[in-house]
Amino acid sequence: MTTTEPLDVQPTALALLLLGREADPRSERGVECPGDLPAPSDPDLVARARAAKARLGDRVFVLGHHYQRDEVIEFADVTGDSFKLARDAAARPQAEFIVFCGVHFMAESADILTSDDQRVILPDLAAGCSMADMATAEQVAECWDVLAEAGVADVTVPVAYMNSSADIKAFTGRHGGTICTSSNARRALEWAFGQRPAGGGKVLFLPDQHLGRNTAVREMGYSLEDCVVYNPHKPNGGLSAGQLRAAKMILWRGHCSVHGRFSLESVEDVRARIPGVNVLVHPECRNEVVAAADLVGSTEYIIKALDAAPAGSSWAIGTELNLVRRLAKAHPDKQIVFLDKTVCFCSTMNRIDLPHLVWTLESLADGKVVNRITVDPETERFARRALEQMLALP
Ligand code: SF4
Repeated sequence: MTTTEPLDVQPTALALLLLGREADPRSERGVECPGDLPAPSDPDLVARARAAKARLGDRVFVLGHHYQRDEVIEFADVTGDSFKLARDAAARPQAEFIVFCGVHFMAESADILTSDDQRVILPDLAAGCSMADMATAEQVAECWDVLAEAGVADVTVPVAYMNSSADIKAFTGRHGGTICTSSNARRALEWAFGQRPAGGGKVLFLPDQHLGRNTAVREMGYSLEDCVVYNPHKPNGGLSAGQLRAAKMILWRGHCSVHGRFSLESVEDVRARIPGVNVLVHPECRNEVVAAADLVGSTEYIIKALDAAPAGSSWAIGTELNLVRRLAKAHPDKQIVFLDKTVCFCSTMNRIDLPHLVWTLESLADGKVVNRITVDPETERFARRALEQMLALP
């Protein structure tokens, strides 16, 4: 369970923070795509962010997730995916404030991995993740009961994607499972299957069905029939005891609202438009998209693949648009396009903007700790156990 400190918000000169004072776990559902990023940053805000950051000096460490806006990335001390950023924060014990420009579950992970003296701040409390919200602690506990009823709980190992709440990570730690990222999902699954009698083990994969399915089927030779989808909104997950017993992979019915929108048609369309294009997608995409792509990999993999690509090559990238645009700018010698014309930014990531960052930095510099994210000690203990298991993966 996560708590936030009571807010002590004073109006700033520009009344910067109109939104995001309260946590709103449902906020990211059904959001509309703005179609494009807002206008470039107000130069006054840039100057104010610089001044506040300079006032804080080494006391603050700003983390910028790859999917953040350019105006925010400009102030990041380090960029990366969620796990790399949490580890970077833990490696900076002298930083009193970790300002996490990302989404809620990432700030929770940073709080779990950093020392008790470090305070993790999320500039907008409404920056959640729709995928993480698709698995609540109550739903997952109920699922485990269903598995127990079917007689399969003791041969099942939970594997939770990094993109999950601290509660789900703690559930995973309590039940002897591991966390995984999109880079090490295969190793996590191999480890999990190895924990139970040969051939008899199962994995409950949370909360992203696509990463679980793509890893098992594309990388490990399981069939689509080895996978079942547990729907938390149906009685018994919509599955019979026989289906649960026969399955190898029990996939939670969750998905990323950004990567889940890429379609087979978008792959076919880009191949028709750009002859010889390399299609490179994230494993959170649907199975048919991944099957039709040339390359599949995590955000870090995508960045490295484009770094290594020869000049003159063409690429269609299936991941978040802020990152794709930044990569296209960084590689003017290559043609880099977004895989789908209709997919928008991660709207919750985009809630962190320069006004919220300025408000956060100025508040901290003035001695007011705002939007702190804390994970309670019991949840932290078990979530850390699951994270440590990931670090110990062979
Ligand atoms: S890109 Fe997808 S998984 Fe990542 S924060 Fe946004 S909704 Fe969540």
